[in-house]
Amino acid sequence: MQELEERIAARGRVLGENVLKVDEFVTHQVDPVLMNLMGDRLAEVFADKKITKVVTLETSGIAPAIFAAQTLGVPMIFARKSKSLTMNEELLTSSVYSFTKQVTSTISISRKFLSAEDNVLIVDDFLANGQAAKGLIELCRQAGAHVEGVGIIIEKSFQDGRKLLEDMDIPVVSLARIASLKNGEIEFAKADA
Ligand code: 5GP
Repeated sequence: MQELEERIAARGRVLGENVLKVDEFVTHQVDPVLMNLMGDRLAEVFADKKITKVVTLETSGIAPAIFAAQTLGVPMIFARKSKSLTMNEELLTSSVYSFTKQVTSTISISRKFLSAEDNVLIVDDFLANGQAAKGLIELCRQAGAHVEGVGIIIEKSFQDGRKLLEDMDIPVVSLARIASLKNGEIEFAKADA
């Protein structure tokens, strides 16, 4: 997606060789206009898949997921990383190792929000090693729901996430794909949409 690549090139910051900081428009401060466009684009790609729920992981997945869900006309569910006192119903849970925080957390969604009738689109801000998406896929599968695909804002294609998901037969659509962050330079690969 050209608008996104232009913004990453202008405002993204490279940290080390593996991490891209986009806190001016995605992960801390959010540009709602760009975010809306990105959610719309993911919704368009999956428009014929009869999606019934958009699922993401708090916190940074919520913004793109809500816009995609709005365009698809379906609810958005965000998995929680810590258990809330109000979550007193049966839970779907799995473990996710966080690439940026380097801790493992238990993620959960109330059982009542997903069922075997659901066709799910998973949305997240970044795809690195694929652990967040894999954890969300496991939650959906516990409910018997079908995962139609994973929609990503920024994929770091030099890490293993895409391969992990494709090996699970899950289609991945990324709006920007980063081939390399070596020497502080952002090198793009051809995006999916
Ligand atoms: P994965 O589970 O695919 O290894 O990592 C995905 C999660 O880690 C995303 O939800 C995102 O929050 C975080 N993440 C991974 N790589 C980056 C990065 O380069 N920059 C930022 N800001 N977050 C990242």
